[in-house]
Amino acid sequence: MRIDRIELFHVAMPLIYPWKTAYGEDVACHSVLCRLTSGSVHAWGESAPLTAPCYSPEWGGGIFQCAKEWLAPALLGREIPSGYALQEHLAVYKGNPFAKALLDTAWWNLQSRLTNTPLHRLLGATRGEVTVGADFGVMDSFDDLLTAIDGAVAARFPRVKLKFRPGWDIPMLTAVRKRFPDPVFHIDCNSGYRLDDLSLFQQIDEFRLAMIEQPLPHDDLLDHAQLQSKIRTPVCLDESVTHPRHVVQAIAQKSCQYVNVKPGRVGGLTNAVKIKNLCQQAGIPSWVGGMLESALGAGLCVSLAMLDNFTYPADIFPSSRFYHEDLCERPLELIRLADGTPGVKAEPTPEPHSGRLEKLCVERARLG
Ligand SMILES: [Mg+2]
Repeated sequence: MRIDRIELFHVAMPLIYPWKTAYGEDVACHSVLCRLTSGSVHAWGESAPLTAPCYSPEWGGGIFQCAKEWLAPALLGREIPSGYALQEHLAVYKGNPFAKALLDTAWWNLQSRLTNTPLHRLLGATRGEVTVGADFGVMDSFDDLLTAIDGAVAARFPRVKLKFRPGWDIPMLTAVRKRFPDPVFHIDCNSGYRLDDLSLFQQIDEFRLAMIEQPLPHDDLLDHAQLQSKIRTPVCLDESVTHPRHVVQAIAQKSCQYVNVKPGRVGGLTNAVKIKNLCQQAGIPSWVGGMLESALGAGLCVSLAMLDNFTYPADIFPSSRFYHEDLCERPLELIRLADGTPGVKAEPTPEPHSGRLEKLCVERARLG
């Protein structure tokens, strides 16, 4: 396809309540949307690195500028036959995976439209429904958390993820396991700890967790390998994997037993599929993560999650979990699968509601 026009929209979407993790608190999700046009056909992409460079080195305002100044001009007017070709054109610009994902995800959605092929099929999926997990941030009290978990267990979510940070750690897990001895839990440390905290992680072995997600710094693979060799609970990498090359290195060093894949964090759907394939070849299960995207970005995650090897339930949330009103015309809603667990089904990626996009947009650009 020839890229004839690229429009960028930086939005701030107010959350129902602050999202508290080891890296901070967000009251709004800063995301960037891309409308890509080829001839008379257009499609949308989204990438949501949040407000500040605290989850990763990128942030909403930063990826908007990067896409506007560098990435979009590199693609405008060019014939881009594949996601790989798009990545090649952008490879001269180091890093910046969230910014690249903005254009990459829009390319895949546009290709889906131009070829009249559902996105999940285009990515290689053979299934059309998949189960999802529940995920709870740091709350004001253990009682609030236990009540929330009660709801998730009653709703038959197959696993529950708990954010974990100093001050919301072992006593929190003790309270959770005392009340819920059997359900599948895992914790997400969002790179809040160091190898010096080994004794804490050895204590965590007693809680029979499915995995510990990103315990150590966001750019580390080696210390994670050290940690994994000294604890029984599987380590899962999230922040540390921003490129397929990192998975190759993580596998070689035995840094993890699971990999969380977010299209934004790894540069888009092209790299997400590559990473999934690398994990699969190494016998490492992967699962899809979320970044509080609108239903557009979450819809991209839904299509990705349909691929095989995404065997651990995904972090995909209904729009109503974070937003009074989604940015998109059609909100993301969960369905009930045949086995009784909550899930999602593959659908065309939703588009932004023009009035809401106008209201939430903080800056925009148009090239071509
Ligand atoms: Mg994570």
